[in-house]
Amino acid sequence: MAETIQLTGDLRRNPTRSVQVGDVTIGGGNPIVVQSMAATRTQDIEATVRQVKLLEAAGADLVRVAVDSRKDVEALAAVREQTSAPLSVDLQENYRLCTQVAPHVDKIRYNPGHLHHHEKSKPVRDKVAFIAETAAQHDCAVRVGVNCGSIDPRMLERYPDDHVSAIVASATEHCGLLDELGFDRYVVSLKDSDWKQVVEVNGKFASERPDVPLHLGVTEAGMPPEGVIKTRVAFEQLVSQGIGDTVRVSLTVPFDDKGMEISVAREILADIAAGRFRSVPPKFDEGLNIISCPSCSRVENEKFVDLAQDVKEMSQYASEYDITIAVMGCRVNGPGETDDADLGLWCGPLAVNLKRGEESLGHYPYDEILPRLKQELDEIIATQTSNQSVR
Ligand code: SF4
Repeated sequence: MAETIQLTGDLRRNPTRSVQVGDVTIGGGNPIVVQSMAATRTQDIEATVRQVKLLEAAGADLVRVAVDSRKDVEALAAVREQTSAPLSVDLQENYRLCTQVAPHVDKIRYNPGHLHHHEKSKPVRDKVAFIAETAAQHDCAVRVGVNCGSIDPRMLERYPDDHVSAIVASATEHCGLLDELGFDRYVVSLKDSDWKQVVEVNGKFASERPDVPLHLGVTEAGMPPEGVIKTRVAFEQLVSQGIGDTVRVSLTVPFDDKGMEISVAREILADIAAGRFRSVPPKFDEGLNIISCPSCSRVENEKFVDLAQDVKEMSQYASEYDITIAVMGCRVNGPGETDDADLGLWCGPLAVNLKRGEESLGHYPYDEILPRLKQELDEIIATQTSNQSVR
């Protein structure tokens, strides 16, 4: 068992209610729960068990696994037999899979922005009721996980120019639905790849629903050290105000280094508890910004982590330019999560998809994508340079 850093100081928490997840309690003034997610293919049972145990050994209180299909459910059941770690599961598109996964896990995460994919004519309330009833039957908690890259389309229509309000309204709507259903064993997360948005949406949500335990995270924070810095500054702002009951640090690192997500989380929390705040490097938010997902079982090609690293190295020559490049591991979330980037890439099994802004530029073999990306990067730099000289 790896040595874990314990919180030493007085981390005063907001008076959220307690939510039991297996043996772990989130909220209610309990120590902040540190969690992570398996980055292996769920159907690779041996690798997933090894990943769960690696995270547990690093000090994870809770480990999440993604499930997209019946085969994933069968694999999850086999993983469950080989570990006693509290498990959470990520339901993505298919909310009805919850009946099959609930017997094997302690918590179910659903994304309000994905509920419309199946049974489009069915009211959202009925889908939430289905998940809540299933969770209650199987002694599971629920996480309402709202994500900037997959906001409920109804909320985007209601707040077309205001993502912060759309994200918060989506979360509070689902809290209201669960409250009406008499199901209060839930936590909420509101994630974005921009740490400032994370601070804003969580602060706003906490002021509207101070009773609801919050799961904090900067999604697609990217590679260390930038990914660690983005997460640290967000957590410093929120946790020091009493906001946040469980945290996940999302870093793009090789599968065998995933324990770093836990050690970094505990180090940040220990520093905040001890009053050790770090300042943000000057101009940290200026210049080239690489965002990349932490990877999970949906990663379509094992080359993803190397690709993210290669993109970072190749693009260093553009470090002075305000350009965002997003690198994602799969087709499920890749298209949406790259929408706000200047250049977006996401992995397919044999090729990498590329887009510039919202325009798709096609897909390219893994060994051809970097020069193609550089070509687009050069064009964006040329445009920015000529705009500056015109001014
Ligand atoms: S973008 Fe895809 S591979 Fe990456 S963490 Fe999200 S779901 Fe997993």
